[in-house]
Amino acid sequence: MELVEAKRAFRACLGSARSKGASVGLVPTMGALHDGHLSLIRAARDECDTLAVSIFVNPTQFGDASDLAAYPRELESDLAQCGAAGVDMVFAPSVAEMYPFGEPAVTVDPGPLGSILEGTSRRGHFAGVTTVVTKLFSLAGTCRAYFGEKDFQQLAIVRRTVQDLELDVEVRGCPTVREADGLAMSSRNTRLDASGREAAVALWRSLEAGRALIAAGEQDSSAVMATMRAVLGQSTLVVADYTAVADPFTLSSVEEISGEVRLLVAARVEPVRLIDNLAAIPPAIAGNRAVGK
Ligand code: AMP
Repeated sequence: MELVEAKRAFRACLGSARSKGASVGLVPTMGALHDGHLSLIRAARDECDTLAVSIFVNPTQFGDASDLAAYPRELESDLAQCGAAGVDMVFAPSVAEMYPFGEPAVTVDPGPLGSILEGTSRRGHFAGVTTVVTKLFSLAGTCRAYFGEKDFQQLAIVRRTVQDLELDVEVRGCPTVREADGLAMSSRNTRLDASGREAAVALWRSLEAGRALIAAGEQDSSAVMATMRAVLGQSTLVVADYTAVADPFTLSSVEEISGEVRLLVAARVEPVRLIDNLAAIPPAIAGNRAVGK
């Protein structure tokens, strides 16, 4: 496995692989890898000849300097996990390598999808994401890129960026990987202490409660959101940010539930902000369909 820190080398290696007929897979990450990231890496390994993982804690998507400073950085163990998973190349640039002129003057506007839900709580976050992802796609060239449904709004925005900017990238969405109790795996979970970790499962319970209500025939999204909030409120360590019932494609809020929806939740557990989401379908259309996690 090759470790590449220079953009020029990253572009050249993937270009050379493609020129020999190899298909290229890219898994963009911020490191501190866990089984969620590894599921993306495994999917990419299965489908692509040459597999690159990028590890870059992107400062432009953090509004809060203390959040950026506290973000876990574990390059040594990340490299070991990538090596064991059969990754061909890790691209781990410095901030100066990615942004040699400092704050970028030209950025990619995520549009309306970027200003709802997470965008309301984290202003500028998605512009940072779309900008860095577009830079990574530009460096990587034609490829398949793998993203987790864990960050459902991010996945929707990346898909839309690729469509609207005509990028030669096939975006693959992969299901959320969870701990045994349901908590979505996240690099941020390592910042929870024992009581916070126990309380954090409230996000999953809240989603499950919302899904159960919809499966039982509840059509009023405000009733669903009230239940989801009540579940979050059962723990004093959990401070709800938002609960949402959204269209799975546009992410616009749904009032009367008549088809598949996406439930989304964000909450602060002590100093750590967590997000999660889940598909839910009403009984009228459930039939034999399996609902993804
Ligand atoms: P991050 O390092 O948090 O920026 O995540 C890198 C990629 O891994 C993103 O596409 C995430 O959506 C994905 N990811 C993070 N956690 C999970 C998880 N628990 N299950 C599946 N994918 C995940």
